[in-house]
Amino acid sequence: MAQQYIVSARKYRPSTFRTVVGQDALTHTLKSAIAGGRLAHAYLFCGPRGVGKTTCARIFAKTINCTNITPDGEACNECDSCRAFNEQQSFNIIELDAASNNGVDDIRNLTEQVRIPPQTGRYKVYIIDEVHMLSQAAFNAFLKTLEEPPEYAIFILATTEKQKVIPTILSRCQIYDFTRITVSDIVKQLQYICEEEHIQAEPAALNVIAQKADGGMRDALSIFDQVTASSEGNITYRSAIDNLNVLDYDYYFRLVECFLSGNVPESLLIYKEIRDRGFDSQFFVNGLAQHLRDLMVASTPATRTLLEMNDEVSEQYVQQAAKIHPAFFYRALDLCNTCDLNYRTSTSKQLLVELTLVKLCQIMAPTPLPTQQTPAQGIQKIQSAPAATAPARQTTATKAPASQASAPQQPKPAPQPTTASPPAADRPKSGRQMMAATPRIYINKPNDIVQAEEPSGISMSASAVRREAFDENQLLVAWQQYIDAHPHEQVIINTMLMATPQKVNDTLYEIYVENQGQVQFMESRKASIMQFLRDAVKNDMLAIDIKVNEGVSEKRIWTPREVVEGLKQNNPKFTTFLKDFGLGLA
Ligand SMILES: [Zn+2]
Repeated sequence: MAQQYIVSARKYRPSTFRTVVGQDALTHTLKSAIAGGRLAHAYLFCGPRGVGKTTCARIFAKTINCTNITPDGEACNECDSCRAFNEQQSFNIIELDAASNNGVDDIRNLTEQVRIPPQTGRYKVYIIDEVHMLSQAAFNAFLKTLEEPPEYAIFILATTEKQKVIPTILSRCQIYDFTRITVSDIVKQLQYICEEEHIQAEPAALNVIAQKADGGMRDALSIFDQVTASSEGNITYRSAIDNLNVLDYDYYFRLVECFLSGNVPESLLIYKEIRDRGFDSQFFVNGLAQHLRDLMVASTPATRTLLEMNDEVSEQYVQQAAKIHPAFFYRALDLCNTCDLNYRTSTSKQLLVELTLVKLCQIMAPTPLPTQQTPAQGIQKIQSAPAATAPARQTTATKAPASQASAPQQPKPAPQPTTASPPAADRPKSGRQMMAATPRIYINKPNDIVQAEEPSGISMSASAVRREAFDENQLLVAWQQYIDAHPHEQVIINTMLMATPQKVNDTLYEIYVENQGQVQFMESRKASIMQFLRDAVKNDMLAIDIKVNEGVSEKRIWTPREVVEGLKQNNPKFTTFLKDFGLGLA
């Protein structure tokens, strides 16, 4: 015999205060009021739909009539009164749905019943749902009863719109505000039901259901039933999003990666994919804004509680958020918001969205200038380009040297080009002024210190200000890698070989060059060099002061072999370093 199907919202309707989901503080207060015998004649339960107002009203009615309340203040569910309530045959509970019965006659029917005392039990409870829907006349008719209720009568008024309830009624009620149920509370309850019903469900799928329910348990359960019906006992994330027509958040994660790397073509292709799947563009833009908002609150521990999702899903957000600079969020959210506002009036909606995506990709990427140089040109040119002519953006953090490498302690002469590392950093990178602090350049002439702002072209290409700890050796390795990557730029190489950075403090280093010509030369390449070094040590706070050292005794240029030999002698570990990196000079 086929068992009769009962919808989850009914089957799992709470029958005690303890089983009400997500309203702990409120049910606790109600229980202690009952235990202490402090019952009011009128209560107003306010809150969004489906959060348990009517359910709590029924449990309340049952509990105050129970003849055998349990020690923790719950109805026993066994006495005659409780059983009558559970079988919906109690005469002590009268419900009126004011949404459909809002006339003065409806309220009169109700108030007439108020005069009849309960046959069994102590209290008659009148639940008026959606009380704000009562007509003015009905309100007035009801007010009289509310002002002078008999001992045994208790009114529980429920409403989703407290502001529409007239003050004269509000002032006569004890008010309880029900809150939206959190996603994680809903997910927990769904998990419990899955266990009871022997249904397999992926946490991400339950998360989607909970989010779709928007804080209402009743909605969550009916969505859950809908998904369950088509999932044959195994609710996957895929089946849930297909069933509910929800856009896979994976699209958003991928898009944000595009924004961070400035990948315009990919972002447009993802948008096309989304359109092809039949999703409305404005829905998509709003979803993207929501995703950005979620990333933003995930980026700091303090706001992480605002992330409405279960732990497994939120972890993904925390991870992506860690890569993003705060300024990106503000700009990106602003762009999404503008797109949303303009959407309705736009004559070319697709173009509007695409343009927004392009702009989003440009937030972190530098704006190409007309005089840009290609990477290939950069390598071959001996003279360097001004710092601000910064074209393509690069991914960062790929050029970091192994941090454990040991490099010379006194690196004054450094080796000449050894193995060629990728010449990726040749392009100086400009960018929006997103960096928290731009380092200084000093030109330290004798008796004269000129302090200059770093060229605006130097900014970060990464998505956040990086502050990883690094040591001198790591910087020296990076310094050498930069030299290796620019074999044709003799002047810069020679200068860099002669003047290796010396530590001033954790992020400030200084180099000494021979003359003003070298200062100017270093200045002209400083943008590119600093970007490379900061990428390598993953620290955007790194600054290098360039100083002219008049007192340098030895002013000749070392040959590569001399440099290597000198380093080997001064630092035995350098040989190990050369071997470890297979640099061929060992
Ligand atoms: Zn009972």
